Amino acid sequence: MAQLCINPALIRQYLYCPAAAYYIITGAAEPPTERMKKGKETQREAVEAVAKALGADRVEHSPRLEGAGICGVVDAVLWIGGRPAPLEVKLAKPPRTVPTPHKAQAAAYAIAAQAQYRRAATTAYIYYTETGHTATIPLTQNLIQLVNHVAAQIRRIYSGWTPQPRHHPNKCPSCWYRKYCGYTSTQIEKI
Ligand code: SF4
Repeated sequence: MAQLCINPALIRQYLYCPAAAYYIITGAAEPPTERMKKGKETQREAVEAVAKALGADRVEHSPRLEGAGICGVVDAVLWIGGRPAPLEVKLAKPPRTVPTPHKAQAAAYAIAAQAQYRRAATTAYIYYTETGHTATIPLTQNLIQLVNHVAAQIRRIYSGWTPQPRHHPNKCPSCWYRKYCGYTSTQIEKI
């Protein structure tokens, strides 16, 4: 039987918190915000600007990628020097260093792209709309191993495994899923 293909966004969520990935899989995903909906409208323009800056020969907008156990729609695939390079557009400022969950999501798209097009994908890109910065994510062996490990854990969730919430003081207070996982702030609210 073919293995279940896993969405790169779910890989990012699992690395953020396995419990958040569990809630999404079981039907309680956060609905898209107004900011997310507006972002989709400006995405095409952003993709074209990045493609030009990186000297891409060709651009595919919002293609569905599938292969090597990963599947999902990426914002764009840029063709640079005969190789496919996935591009994600994030409606945010660039962080000081790209967090591992974001690197893993980009790497997962690159893994799917190289399986789908049968061309080596060595790099993925993340474009941050608030500053116009583009981060380059090389597809390293470490990232490939991480993506495959997390995809296997997510398949376990689909098979019935329930990961435990990992409460974290920096993540939980702003997490949309806190109402499900029983997180209670230890901070005393100001009146
Ligand atoms: S509130 Fe914390 S433990 Fe609960 S899902 Fe969010 S990040 Fe995970």
